[in-house]
Amino acid sequence: MDYLMFCDHCGMPKPIEEHIMREYFWIANQVYCNNCERSNNIPKYLQSLALDSRKSRYGSND
Ligand SMILES: [Zn+2]
Repeated sequence: MDYLMFCDHCGMPKPIEEHIMREYFWIANQVYCNNCERSNNIPKYLQSLALDSRKSRYGSND
């Protein structure tokens, strides 16, 4: 399942593929808009989802 983020600056929707979220969002703080190229903070709930996604795929032990 993909997720959508909306740019805080221009409102452009940005689709986030599940594997991008799983591999990237849990350690990243920001994503860049494809339209206006400004940074957006990653919402805490998406970071939590990313962590949960990692746990279910890789197990809870690093
Ligand atoms: Zn934008």
